[in-house]
Amino acid sequence: MTNRALVVVDLQEDFLPPNGSLAIPDGRSIVQPIIELVTGTNLSQWSLVVATQDWHPANHTSFASQHGVEPLAELEFRHPNTGEIKKQYVWPDHCVQGSAGAKLESNFAKAFAEIKGVPTVNVKKGYLQDREYYSCFQDTWGLHQTEMKRTLVEHAIDEVVFVGLAFDYCVLNSAIDSADSFKTYVVESLSKSVTPENDSKTKEIYKSSGVSVVKEISDI
Ligand SMILES: [Zn+2]
Repeated sequence: MTNRALVVVDLQEDFLPPNGSLAIPDGRSIVQPIIELVTGTNLSQWSLVVATQDWHPANHTSFASQHGVEPLAELEFRHPNTGEIKKQYVWPDHCVQGSAGAKLESNFAKAFAEIKGVPTVNVKKGYLQDREYYSCFQDTWGLHQTEMKRTLVEHAIDEVVFVGLAFDYCVLNSAIDSADSFKTYVVESLSKSVTPENDSKTKEIYKSSGVSVVKEISDI
């Protein structure tokens, strides 16, 4: 018997139109179909449901405002220990701990809180000030591991299915890390990109990382 986990990535107000500070085009359209995955008879297909949250301190280094530049500038970041340099984008302030924008979308939050009979875990990432996190497993340097992998192992998960935001950042990097240890799927119809025009390139990255991108959940 296969134990399958659903991971709902960053379904937070700041990533959702019309008011999110880093709203992802068409992001709100996936909320209701994702709710349907964790309600009614659909719930029983999961052995674990995880909801992740970007959860930054107000002075987080991924915010353009901290560097005096415009959002989407590409800056050089230094490895906290080795001094290695990596270029990364900076973003509008978003998902500041405790803010309205950091909240899970309210209808999803309600459905998630009401899940019964299947274990649920809320995994936060991005709370160390000096480094970016795209993956819900670890920061971009791979230094700080969240509880994500341990949680999946504890629940004897074999397969992980990712949905949520965004297809080309946090879902992508989370799925790549997941594929190191688990059979990993991303449901394309339940995920949206910051840069949809790059989706064919993004899908190549998924493929080369061993992640299966399926159109619909029924394609798994
Ligand atoms: Zn962030």
